Amino acid sequence: MKKSRFITGLPKVLFYARMSLGCAWRFRSEICRLGLSGYLGMLRRASKFTRLFFKHKLLRLPSGEYKLDFYMPRYPSEAFFTAMSDKLLCRPPRPVSVVFSMTKTCSFRCPHCYQGLDDPRELPLERMVEVVRELRDFGVAAWAVEGGEPLLRFERLEAVLREIQGLEVWVNSTGFSATPEKIRRLAELRVTGVMSSIHSVGPAEHDAFTGVPGSWRGSLQFLADCKRAGMLTGFNTVLTDEPILSGGIDGIMNLAKEHDCDYVQLIHPKMCGRWKNENFDTTRHEEAVKIACAAQVRYNSSKEKHAPILTAQVFEESPEMLGCCCGGIDRFYIGCSGEVQPCEFVNLSFGNLNEVSFGTAYSQMRRAFAVPCENWICCELAEEIAAAFDGQYPLPWSVTETLIRNRRSGKPTEIYRKMGIYQ
Ligand code: SF4
Ligand code: SF4
Repeated sequence: MKKSRFITGLPKVLFYARMSLGCAWRFRSEICRLGLSGYLGMLRRASKFTRLFFKHKLLRLPSGEYKLDFYMPRYPSEAFFTAMSDKLLCRPPRPVSVVFSMTKTCSFRCPHCYQGLDDPRELPLERMVEVVRELRDFGVAAWAVEGGEPLLRFERLEAVLREIQGLEVWVNSTGFSATPEKIRRLAELRVTGVMSSIHSVGPAEHDAFTGVPGSWRGSLQFLADCKRAGMLTGFNTVLTDEPILSGGIDGIMNLAKEHDCDYVQLIHPKMCGRWKNENFDTTRHEEAVKIACAAQVRYNSSKEKHAPILTAQVFEESPEMLGCCCGGIDRFYIGCSGEVQPCEFVNLSFGNLNEVSFGTAYSQMRRAFAVPCENWICCELAEEIAAAFDGQYPLPWSVTETLIRNRRSGKPTEIYRKMGIYQ
């Protein structure tokens, strides 16, 4: 019988034991710098951090590497150890990942598009590549490269991917305009995986949502072609409370399993971008969150050993996990016109890279998000951001500065408080 690529139970425990020894060995030179007790303290922090990943099924890659968690680079890649040292050794800690939009060009008309109201002007190619190099050299180890539709601006996509080969690189794409040559090139440029939007189990509903007939089949075909080319694959799925309450998660998970996907990222809908004024029915929201969290636990257990890994944002961003890690804590976003944002779902800019250096925008952002906290900024500030909308997103730094000052961030996130790495 074929060995499953998903690992649970005792083999997962043994893997974590081996990995802990591997990390201790990898960072052994730190004994000289930190002293024995400092070194042991660092290992204790590493163990607290990796305990979060243990809540996920382990994924064995054809390369022999392992994914502990969707958001963490594969082990034992260089990108993994960069991400670990981001948290364990750098003071202040660096973010692990960036969502990098390189174009707004897209043929779809999704109503929830978070960049649907953004400035469509792209950063000039040269400046974009310069920014990519700067982020790479700064130590950003995990990249989600996206559009718009990145395949429609393939020369820009290639320019980005060339600079970050070997890091953890995912491409978010609808598959629109994919060709065998483009897919072969993604594999050549060592893309780790691709994610494509699938918002319902049937084509009609999905195509009505995207506004493009055939988009559901196009995404599935694209994922299948990328899998054949050796990349990991997954769905990006946005479900409102109503489909979650009526069993929608299982339907999506079955579809993803049928199509041999590795991940399903379940995204909770947010009032941002084109959905800035959307009135979601929140009467049964808590119940829907509980269902999504329970599904995450089940799809990461041996009960669902052969199903894809579910990574539900409401679980990953809960106080027991990482809370809200935007603003360069773990992640941030760069829009196609060069706006530095705390998260793709927060239409606030900390500076435009045509006007300021990355260092300036980044420091402004880090000062605003000095300590990781529990409150979800995308929800907390949604109404204020929408009220300040003046024809284009993201809101400029002059407005951001005031809005961010008065936000309610909630309690510091427990895991990072225990690790004591943010002061
Ligand atoms: S959500 Fe993605 S696919 Fe949909 S319109 Fe926006 S960029 Fe295009
Ligand atoms: S703002 Fe925070 S909680 Fe919301 S999606 Fe971004 S990281 Fe997650």
